[in-house]
Amino acid sequence: MTLKVAIVGAGPSGLYAAESLASVADVHVDVFDRLPVPMGLVRYGVAPDHFSIRGVRDTLDKVFDHSNVRFLGNVDVGRDVSLDDLQNAYHAVILTYGASRDRALGIAGEDLPGSIAATDFVAWYTGHPDSDPNEFRDLLAHSRSIAVIGVGNVAVDVTRILVKDAEELSATDMPRHVIDALKASQVRQVHVFGRRGPMQASFTTKELRELGELPGVDVHVDSRDMVLDPNSPEHSDKVAARNFEVLKEWATRTPGESNRAIQFHFYSKPISIEGSHAVQRLHVQRTAFDATGALVDVPGEVVAIDVDAVVRSIGYRGLPLGDVPFDDERGVVKNSDGRVEGRPGLYVAGWIKRGPSGIIGTNKKDAAATVQSLLADRDSLPTPVTSIDALLANHHVIDTAGWRAINAAEMAEGSKFGQDRITLHSRELLVAAAST
Ligand code: NAP
Repeated sequence: MTLKVAIVGAGPSGLYAAESLASVADVHVDVFDRLPVPMGLVRYGVAPDHFSIRGVRDTLDKVFDHSNVRFLGNVDVGRDVSLDDLQNAYHAVILTYGASRDRALGIAGEDLPGSIAATDFVAWYTGHPDSDPNEFRDLLAHSRSIAVIGVGNVAVDVTRILVKDAEELSATDMPRHVIDALKASQVRQVHVFGRRGPMQASFTTKELRELGELPGVDVHVDSRDMVLDPNSPEHSDKVAARNFEVLKEWATRTPGESNRAIQFHFYSKPISIEGSHAVQRLHVQRTAFDATGALVDVPGEVVAIDVDAVVRSIGYRGLPLGDVPFDDERGVVKNSDGRVEGRPGLYVAGWIKRGPSGIIGTNKKDAAATVQSLLADRDSLPTPVTSIDALLANHHVIDTAGWRAINAAEMAEGSKFGQDRITLHSRELLVAAAST
């Protein structure tokens, strides 16, 4: 009997799960995505100028070379078909739809125009079809100083894209109108805020170091932030120690004459965003660790920094799907080794299983572990009773051939500019390219 498996979400976790199943005898895998294209965060998250990480898409794409793996794009599970529909048509369903929602700061002024979520800015510069191609053009044209809140790798990506010479970004697959908006950008200063100390930042050293190597960009760190707080936790972390060394060197640099600058502020907790009609300034509270290692406010130390925009880069959050058991606090589907609690035949992998952490490769192991659980349950899985093809007969599914046509169209667009590819930045363009 052929084991039929549906995967919901064609990002890295979904494709790693499909790859891990494809080599098992007598398995058929359908990978669904609400977008017309697969790749998820490899396409719409990983920074376009990080060519080597983005290159993983060629590896992931090979999964569709297997004759027993199909892509079913442009299908929104929950809207076009229900999860019950899938469970009725497959022995097993693996949810790998990630963590798409931004987290909220919960401070006054957060909703002012000019206060934006990093997830939206990243979606825009990577050409996500849900983002308006012109979304941040005016903001960039009218902002000289921008605050980025959070000190993770997404904050580093956003900061780099904001200050990097847009000419250098021309070699990426970013849509041309995004490059043009970045070329016209007036941004000269990016302030990056960490609410805890430099040892607690969650960025990785390679990504951090890159900021200090950008031509025409000065990086500043206040030497006061680099005095190690004896109460600061996590001193044994090797990445943190390497980050600290990089930041310490930057703290000794004398201010240069560069056109653009990045200023790091640690122990700086945003408490409000202010402006009459749009963002004009950010108020931050100085923090410190107390003797128990808890973060506390330093009395009387609140500063106001004039900025034209605020980018909130404080992590992603997963969303529930229908009545699937969900841990609201962690933003993950409740599961044990990838098996969804109380739902035979339903599994999870990736960020919606463990939360938004790790690098792309982390999802390979994670997806393989879920597939192991699924295969161990093989003899007790529910029997499918319907056919998904019949259910979707009147729906415009973008299949593997459609995706390959989109891929070819993006490469053709790129070749006009002497490069590998250029992302098509709208659902209409993608769907049209699928039929060429
Ligand atoms: P992240 O690493 O979890 O960083 C979130 C940051 O937001 C932390 O500095 C956190 O500080 C801060 N934060 C959270 N709540 C806050 C609040 N209320 N006020 C102020 N600051 C707050 O998340 P991410 O940057 O979104 O990255 C998500 C995942 O993708 C990570 O695993 C990351 O490594 C990965 N990623 C990797 C790459 C790459 O490898 N090149 C690129 C992009 C993303 P606290 O620690 O104090 O909570």
